[in-house]
Amino acid sequence: MSDETYVIVGASLAGAKAAETLRAEGFTGRVVLIGEETEPPYERPPLSKGYLSGAEPREKAFVHEPHWYVEHDIEWRAGTLAVELDLAARTVSTLPTDTVRYDKLLLATGSRVRTLTTPGSNLEGVRYLRTLDQSDALLAGFREGAQVVVIGAGWIGLETAAAARQHGCTVTVVEMDSLPLRRVLGDEVATVYRDLHAAHGVDFRFGAGVQEIKGVDGAVTGVLLEDGWEVAADLVVVGVGIRPAVELAEAAGLEVDNGIVTDENLRTSDPHVWACGDVASSFNPLLGTRLRVEHWANALNGGPAAARSMLGKGEPYGPVPYFFSDQYDLGMEYSGWVAPGEYDQVVFRGEPGRAEAGAAPEFLAFWVKGGAVLAGMNANVWDVTETIADLVRAGLTGRTVDLAALADPEVPLADVLG
Ligand SMILES: Cc1cc2nc3c(=O)[nH]c(=O)nc-3n(C[C@H](O)[C@H](O)[C@H](O)COP(=O)(O)OP(=O)(O)OC[C@H]3O[C@@H](n4cnc5c(N)ncnc54)[C@H](O)[C@@H]3O)c2cc1C
Repeated sequence: MSDETYVIVGASLAGAKAAETLRAEGFTGRVVLIGEETEPPYERPPLSKGYLSGAEPREKAFVHEPHWYVEHDIEWRAGTLAVELDLAARTVSTLPTDTVRYDKLLLATGSRVRTLTTPGSNLEGVRYLRTLDQSDALLAGFREGAQVVVIGAGWIGLETAAAARQHGCTVTVVEMDSLPLRRVLGDEVATVYRDLHAAHGVDFRFGAGVQEIKGVDGAVTGVLLEDGWEVAADLVVVGVGIRPAVELAEAAGLEVDNGIVTDENLRTSDPHVWACGDVASSFNPLLGTRLRVEHWANALNGGPAAARSMLGKGEPYGPVPYFFSDQYDLGMEYSGWVAPGEYDQVVFRGEPGRAEAGAAPEFLAFWVKGGAVLAGMNANVWDVTETIADLVRAGLTGRTVDLAALADPEVPLADVLG
């Protein structure tokens, strides 16, 4: 039996997966999992998809049943906020008041939503989506004919818009940019998402800033745009991005730069402290740069990678960044990483344009620079992510591909690299 104590702050996907890995790798010491939420650790993707659309039960989101933590001797402290970290004493102070001493500490504190400061932002009916109870609240408001205004056409905004449409709400999406998701996907594929939502009856207001959220008797009634246009609303969903939850780390003096800075083994500037998931800005040896990834797969795999590193069994963590999204009948996976605008062209294999007719498109899209594949998306095409990741890995070494073959559905994708 080990007499060491490993403390994990943040009881969500990354934290729970790290705890699971510590036990799976044979760690016999004390594992304390501290989380401010009262729900058992859960995955967030269903909150804007299967659960919010009504297709999946609430319990499906949980990483494990509550009894799993007991059975694996993990001290899961629900409803407990870590308020102070003392790196010299190696302690975490919490509310309700307690102090836990650690030998090794993992910070998996994730992200928090960015909130609006626009007049009217505090009205009843102005909602955000990060937690399970926020998803419950949205679900309760998604009624046939309800008028929903979504502010922000990012992933959360668009998925919420799709779920609201599936409940029969009228939906307006307000976005400052000229297309949804333009910074992540570029114009070519952003257009596909615009057309998909338009075909499902979503009304977009592009190039639109919000001046005020209007209300009567404390409840929201509409959104006034900067151009003077007012959109009626029973419910306003704000999806304007997130920020890493670095408060604890920053106050303790850990290196923070758009996330908690870690090396490729997910170790922070303090040798006894690791960070993973949304909150970590980690050096990715594959990309040769430090990156903070706000996606499910990075929590799913980063938690275990950090746990192994804490146990001295770690290998450099350098995944091809990956995320997925489901909207209506369009499911997609994206592998790779492209800084905004940093590609020459998008090469399509298949027909993205079918979305305009309201049919589910099936296509691959590749973001290419200098003939090398930087990223690829498979939309309603499955079991190709590993091959796309291979193309991305090859592209990162500067290997170019034949773009005609890349676009040709007759050429097996695995043969494109030759
Ligand atoms: C609605 C929604 C849908 C999503 N859909 C997708 C998707 O389709 N595809 C995809 O790739 N990604 C998706 N994501 C992103 C994905 O869910 C996140 O990347 C993932 O949740 C990150 O996990 P994490 O464990 O690092 O952090 P988080 O999930 O943010 O969890 C951090 C936890 O730490 C707790 N915490 C923070 N500070 C403290 C403290 N001081 N003391 C105690 N506890 C603390 C928080 O309360 C929280 O429970 C979605 C996110 C949301 C919100």
